[in-house]
Amino acid sequence: MSKADLHLHSNKSDGILSPEEVVLQAAKLGLAAISLTDHDTVEGISEALNAGTRYGVRVVPGIELNTSADNGELHILGYYICHTDTRLLDALKNIKEARVQRVRAIVKKLNGLGFEITFDQVLKKAGKADSMGRPHIARLLMEKSYVSTVKEAFEKYIGYGGPAYVERHKLLPREVITLIKNCGGVPVLAHPGILSSSHYIDLCIREGIQGIEAYHSRHTEEQAAVFREIARRHDLIVTGGSDCHGEFKFDGKMLMGRYTVDARAVDRLKEAAAGNGVCMKGMYNHFKS
Ligand code: AMP
Ligand code: ZN
Ligand code: FE
Ligand code: FE
Repeated sequence: MSKADLHLHSNKSDGILSPEEVVLQAAKLGLAAISLTDHDTVEGISEALNAGTRYGVRVVPGIELNTSADNGELHILGYYICHTDTRLLDALKNIKEARVQRVRAIVKKLNGLGFEITFDQVLKKAGKADSMGRPHIARLLMEKSYVSTVKEAFEKYIGYGGPAYVERHKLLPREVITLIKNCGGVPVLAHPGILSSSHYIDLCIREGIQGIEAYHSRHTEEQAAVFREIARRHDLIVTGGSDCHGEFKFDGKMLMGRYTVDARAVDRLKEAAAGNGVCMKGMYNHFKS
């Protein structure tokens, strides 16, 4: 079976590898297809597409957008988005700005708790990232030996409910689903197994989600089976991916490529994207209306 890992992050958001390195690694692992799904940014897409051509890996342009639902967070993947669409880029610009403001606010709270860090130091830690986030703060806290793991930083300080937690304005699931469809993409519910409530799945289905990520590094096989069944009942595309941020597991092997879906899912995504009314001239460039 040809395998596809359709959930990967690069250093354009909070991953470690560059987009090219992600694709090179995928080629080494023998993956037929991947999608780069960085948080709230499409900055890495061109580089990944070019690398895909060079290394013989099918690359699906993607994104992962966080939304807020009630008190929880819900992540939505967008596949075959047009990464040059101006409406998408405008929306991402606003999100990027909100992320910067949030990091500033978190740094201030951490200063209040006695941590000697600055916004510029986080910026440096974010390096080439287009969308900065809490993982960059966590890595700085680690570098300064305030915590020993990223997980500890989240659990003690910057995670939801922590003393340095700051809320960020997020779009609603409906808004993100519309945004993705409007730029030619296929919206897919990310890692439903880590949602705080299963009613979010129904909500996404009502709002027009077109796929569900059944296979994920944080799903059990039983959960994957439940999500496949939901997909069957609601005619959703089944997708899957490792959600690898460039990390190695305790056994020294990379997370990438361990949680995959049959690469035929890529054809279904492409068909759905075409069905959403976007001109699929060439593979990715379509005319904007
Ligand atoms: P942000 O985008 O700034 O809200 O940060 C959220 C990101 O941080 C997620 O997408 C994960 O990659 C990472 N993250 C969230 N919670 C944890 C945790 N407990 N331990 C490690 N990383 C986390
Ligand atoms: Zn992440
Ligand atoms: Fe996510
Ligand atoms: Fe992710």
